[in-house]
Amino acid sequence: MRALRLAVPGPIDDAGLRLSEVPAPALPAEAGRPNVLLRVLACAVCRTDLHLVEGELPAHQLPVTPGHQVVATVAATAPGCTEVKPGDRVGVPWLYVTCGRCRFCRAGLENLCDQAQFTGWDVDGGYAEYLLAHAGFVVPLPATLAAEAAAPLLCAGVIGYRSLKQADLVPGERLGLFGFGASAHLALQVARHWGCQVAVFTRAAAHRKLAESLGAAWVGSSDNQPDWPLDRAVIFAPAGPLVPLALARLRKGGTLAVNAIHMSLIPEFHYTLLYGERTVRSVANATRQDAIEFMRLAAVLPLHATVETMPLAEANRALQRLKRSEIQGAAVLVP
Ligand SMILES: [Zn+2]
Ligand SMILES: [Zn+2]
Repeated sequence: MRALRLAVPGPIDDAGLRLSEVPAPALPAEAGRPNVLLRVLACAVCRTDLHLVEGELPAHQLPVTPGHQVVATVAATAPGCTEVKPGDRVGVPWLYVTCGRCRFCRAGLENLCDQAQFTGWDVDGGYAEYLLAHAGFVVPLPATLAAEAAAPLLCAGVIGYRSLKQADLVPGERLGLFGFGASAHLALQVARHWGCQVAVFTRAAAHRKLAESLGAAWVGSSDNQPDWPLDRAVIFAPAGPLVPLALARLRKGGTLAVNAIHMSLIPEFHYTLLYGERTVRSVANATRQDAIEFMRLAAVLPLHATVETMPLAEANRALQRLKRSEIQGAAVLVP
């Protein structure tokens, strides 16, 4: 099969990922895991892939095939697999598998499991024609969504949804989104569905236009602000200086959730920005429950994912454009 392999992390250029012919992965002959062989229909590009390719996120194995927003068809299952059958269409998210036994797994916080494996980081992911998965960890997808439209929902969408929950957002509140890429443009639609008033802080003109078209009440740069305070805020850009900026726009008792797996240094700031019982918390991965809830929402909304599809061979170009904030919504690779 064809797969895009990362061998040497470094600043993204045309050779960052190499298109290679590799043996397709094989299922165990007897009952065992991973227990599903999947044929990839589409795989969306995530900022985490860029961090991995550039080495900001240390690789767990090399070479590795990135990609963790995979829409795929079940090609075969190992003996004893009951959750899915050949022909089913499923999604493979970032959370590949967890231990199921630790305090986090038992408390509904499997996203924090120390033994968790992540798709396209600990194991080969979806920038390829085939991959293996654990049947218990694949996500059922609404039949109404095309593969290209469903792919960016699997990480960008699900983690954006978890970010809103971690920001303690309740319907009708005023929300600020800092950075406006794949995740934020989906979170905005959920927040609007909940009747929230949303401010979007972003520099790129194209992102501002998209935010306005999706119903943002205020759009501007992060050194500017609407004339109303934020009840809740989410930072989507991996820029530490946004933390004090966002806190300064948050009302007392408000919550700031930071949705980033990697972030530049957060500058020192005065305690007054935090005082008044403001909360700052990070968002780390997402649970299967988040994915199930979010996919249900995606079907009823219906959620509109803005996507740019491109062939597998153009992954390096997609990552370069993502870095320069040139992608409208999400980039999706199609084998
Ligand atoms: Zn991701
Ligand atoms: Zn665990």
